Amino acid sequence: LEAPIHDVVLGGAAAHGDTVALIDGTNGMSVTYAQLDTFHRRIAAHLAEAGLRKGDVLALHSPNTIAYPAVFYGATRAGAAVTTVHPLATAEEFAKQIEDSGARWIVTVSLFLDVARRAAELAGGVQEIYVCDRAEGHTSVLDMLGSTAPEPEIAFDADDVAVLPYSSGTTGTPKGVMLTHRSIGSNLEQLRPFIPMEPGQIILAVLPFFHIYGLTALLNVPLRSGATVVVLPRFDLDQFLGVIQEYRVTGLYVAPPIVLALAKHPAVDAYDLSGVEYIVSAAAPLDADLAAACAARVGVPAVLQAYGMTELSPGANVVPIDARDAPPGTVGKLLPNTELRITSLDTPGEDLGIGTDGEILIRGPQTMKGYLGRPDATAAMIDPDGWVHTGDVGRVDANGWLFVVDRVKELIKYKGYQVAPAELEALLLGHASVADAAVIGVPDPDGNEIPKAYVVRTPGADLTADALMAWVAERVAPYKKVREVEFIETVPRAVSGKILRRELREPRELRERADGR
Ligand code: ATP
Ligand code: MG
Repeated sequence: LEAPIHDVVLGGAAAHGDTVALIDGTNGMSVTYAQLDTFHRRIAAHLAEAGLRKGDVLALHSPNTIAYPAVFYGATRAGAAVTTVHPLATAEEFAKQIEDSGARWIVTVSLFLDVARRAAELAGGVQEIYVCDRAEGHTSVLDMLGSTAPEPEIAFDADDVAVLPYSSGTTGTPKGVMLTHRSIGSNLEQLRPFIPMEPGQIILAVLPFFHIYGLTALLNVPLRSGATVVVLPRFDLDQFLGVIQEYRVTGLYVAPPIVLALAKHPAVDAYDLSGVEYIVSAAAPLDADLAAACAARVGVPAVLQAYGMTELSPGANVVPIDARDAPPGTVGKLLPNTELRITSLDTPGEDLGIGTDGEILIRGPQTMKGYLGRPDATAAMIDPDGWVHTGDVGRVDANGWLFVVDRVKELIKYKGYQVAPAELEALLLGHASVADAAVIGVPDPDGNEIPKAYVVRTPGADLTADALMAWVAERVAPYKKVREVEFIETVPRAVSGKILRRELREPRELRERADGR
C-alpha cells in the first residue's frame, strides 16, 4: 500500500513483456506490456524535463484510447496529480475544472484541441498543451516517447493526491475528489479477491476512463494483472457487439443503459457472445428483472453489481465473480477492510437493523482525502469518526448482501410516504411499449410531491399517458402511483448511466436538447 499507483499497476508490466496490454477496438492497433512500461517512463521523463514538479496538476482530456494509460501513469510517475476531464466537456466546463484544480498541464487529442485551447485561455495559468496524436504547434505524446531525459526520481508519500476526478455532478456542482496513492492502492487490494484477473482475460473498455469506475475496472485492475483491454472510445451497440465477438471478450464492465441494450435490443442475437464469462454493472440502480434478462440473453449466470462512489476510490461493495448465492438485485458484499452502517433517515446517527432501509455509511482506507478546496463539503461528507455519509438509501439482508434503493435526495415525499424513483423506473421499463423512463417528484397544488414519469416509447407503440398510469396503478401501492406522464425523445443521462434529473426539472434545457442544439 505504500507504493505509488503507477508501481502498483505497472510493477509487473515489464515481466508481461510481449503480452498485449491494450488493443484499439476500432482499428486493431495494440500496445504490449513491455511498450506500456517503457512508454510511461519516457512520458514521465519528458514531463519532468519540461518542468513538471511533484504536486503539479495535469488535466487529461481524452476519450478512451490505447495511449491513455501511458499518459496517465507517466504523469503520476513524474509526480503529477491527474485530473481527468470529460472529453466532451465544453470549453467553459473545462476552464472551470482547470481553475478549480489549478491544472498547469493539459494533455488532449487533436479532435478536441480547440476546446482545450479555449479552456486554457479562459482559465489562464496553463503552461503547456500536449496532444496524444498529432497537431501542428504542439508537442505530441509520440514525441515524448523519444525523450532521452533521465527518469525522474520522486519521493512519494502515500497520502499525496494521485488522481483528482470530478464527481459526476448529478446532485450539484462537480467537486474535485482528492484520491491518494493510498486510497486507490487500498481499493485495488480490496477488490483483488472479489474480481480476480489474470493474463488471457479480455476486458472490453467502453465506459470512459475519466470516470473513476472506468479508470479502476478497465485500467488499474486489468493492467495490474496482465489481462488485455480492448478499448472503444464511445458506446455504439453494433461496434460493441462486434468487438466482443471478434476478440472473444471475457469480461464486461458496464452501466445500466448497456445492460438495458443487451437485454432488449434485437441486434444482440446476431452476434456470438459466447466468450463472455461475466458482466459487472455499477454506477446507477439496476433492476433485477432487467439484469436477469440481460444475463440470459448473453449467456452468463448473472449480471454482477458493484456499488461505490468517486469519494471511495471508488469501491465499497461488489458481488464476487464466483458468487453463486447472490440474491437478485444485490449490489454485493462489503469489501474486505471496509465497514458499513445503515442509519435512520429520520433520527440521524441511529443504527438500523437487518432488512431496514436507511442511509448507507461506509468507512475504510479507500476514503478520499477530501474535496479540493471545500472543507465544508468534506466535513458534510466524512464525519469526525471517518464515516462517509453516502447520501444513498439501502438495506442489508441477513447474509450481508447490500441493496441500494436510491439517493436520499431523490426520494419523492408523498403524503408522509417516500417513493424511490428507481423503483418506478424499473417497473416502467417492464412495460413492453416503454423503451426508457425517468421519474422525478414534482409539486402538486396540495403541497405534496407527486411522481412524474418521463417516458420514451418504443418505436411504433401507441401508448397513452392514461393507459400507462393505469398499468402502473395495478402494480404498486396507491401512494406510489405515477400521477403525471410526459413522453420524451431521450432520457438525459451521464455517461455512467445516471439519469440527469436536473435536466428534467429544467424544461428550457430539455427544449434545446430536443432542438438538437
Ligand atoms: P455528484 O456526487 O457530483 O452528485 P455522483 O454521485 O453521481 O455525482 P459518482 O461518484 O460518479 O457521482 O456516483 C456515485 C453514486 O452512484 C452513488 O452515490 C450512488 O448513488 C450511485 N451508484 C453507484 N453504484 C450504484 C449501484 N450499483 N446501484 C445504485 N446506485 C449506484
Ligand atoms: Mg455523489
